[in-house]
Amino acid sequence: MSDLSEARTLLADANKVLVAKGVLDAYGHVSMRNPENPQEYLLARNLAPALVRPEDIIIYRLDSDTQDPRTGYLERFIHGEIYAGRPDVHAVVHSHSASVIPFSISEVPLRAVWHMAGFLGTKTAVFEMRNFAGDASDLIISDRKLGEALSHVLSASAVVLMRGHGSVAVGESVEQAVWRSVFTELNARVQLAAHGLGSYMELTEAEGVATAEMNAGQIRRAWEIWRSEVTSLGASR
Ligand SMILES: [Zn+2]
Repeated sequence: MSDLSEARTLLADANKVLVAKGVLDAYGHVSMRNPENPQEYLLARNLAPALVRPEDIIIYRLDSDTQDPRTGYLERFIHGEIYAGRPDVHAVVHSHSASVIPFSISEVPLRAVWHMAGFLGTKTAVFEMRNFAGDASDLIISDRKLGEALSHVLSASAVVLMRGHGSVAVGESVEQAVWRSVFTELNARVQLAAHGLGSYMELTEAEGVATAEMNAGQIRRAWEIWRSEVTSLGASR
């Protein structure tokens, strides 16, 4: 099996994992850089993530254009512009998962409060659409200009929030981007619960760095079980 063929299967399975973990539902998407050409990325056609099969994957250039005639996601520019700006990134997850939203619309920053989410550090940046599209937009990243603006706000981080919309998690592999998006959502739930209790402890910057480094070597264990859970239920293979 070629690298591209394996990548299509991996990406289809990643879609199903993210649905199973409550990160994606009917909306949101996951992409990966083409392992055979770093100037391209792979992203499903416009389809609910749970339904994505390997043959539904479209190959895009980094300007988010393609020869493929099938309809793509409106927000594919999120992916193309992040790959263009971040050579270290090989996978991107865009989600509307609800627990992170309060941190995008309040003064309380989403930050690592749990060792599983040390990669969040002490503050997660928030992309404010009004700074780029005025106060009457549909909040959708529907062109390259907005995608590039989002990529700038993400900067060198692992995660960026989008005010009143959702979030983006990136990784150096599909497994890492999926893992980070799952634990971003879970850290948000933990932080919200702790906030309801009153004051709470947060990871220091150094604890965030140390736990992120430690966990980076432990992603494979989670990925293997998560993938087996969705593929044994009659998924893409
Ligand atoms: Zn979106």
